[in-house]
Amino acid sequence: MAHRAQAGADEPIEAVIVRAREDMRAYQESLTRQPDVGAVELGGVSHALVPIRVIARDLPRIVDEIVGPERCPEVIYRVGRAIGEAHAEAFFRSACSDGAAPDYRILAGPFHLTWGGYGDVELLVWEPRVDERFAVLWEAEHSASARSAAGGARRTRACNLEAGYSAGWCAAATGLRLVARELACRAEGIRRCRFLIVHEDHAQAAVVEPRFHLESSRYSLTPVRVGGRV
Ligand SMILES: [Zn+2]
Repeated sequence: MAHRAQAGADEPIEAVIVRAREDMRAYQESLTRQPDVGAVELGGVSHALVPIRVIARDLPRIVDEIVGPERCPEVIYRVGRAIGEAHAEAFFRSACSDGAAPDYRILAGPFHLTWGGYGDVELLVWEPRVDERFAVLWEAEHSASARSAAGGARRTRACNLEAGYSAGWCAAATGLRLVARELACRAEGIRRCRFLIVHEDHAQAAVVEPRFHLESSRYSLTPVRVGGRV
């Protein structure tokens, strides 16, 4: 069972990552299956295993058919956001003390995302201030939605599910009105998907800030890999 994280606002990010990684590993191993009653449970929350192909490719296609291409991305984003919030609330309730530092609460999110099969995470910009200056920039080389979109007819940003998930987790972790925007997507033909999480009041201005559009190798947080290639 995961130990309950304690407050420690001044703890170096590397130490918080190690702790969050180990706690999440223990938490994920607490998953239980009860086939006699058809139940899968993690953190006290019932789950149903859903194929990525369905949630990342078929669902967008179905929603697109029903609500149109303009509104489809927002619907998928909100589904991802609801999943991220639900996963965060379950983790905080069952494996995290009320006094856990925001850094720890936020950093547990990328690990849950990787354990959940949504993709890998590499942090590029880490400014988890619990106010309107909040900014986290992250990349994924193996986003599940981008993988599912590969080979499709359209080369467009595909990771509304992952963007919503990361916004939902971070909003639950901080209590802030946060949103996530996908700045670039592997489905567009580049190597990695890039996501920016910021306060909703500043999202429009933040997405065009040059500092969020540098080459991946120019970010000093490059060694801080929290999924996939750890
Ligand atoms: Zn993408």
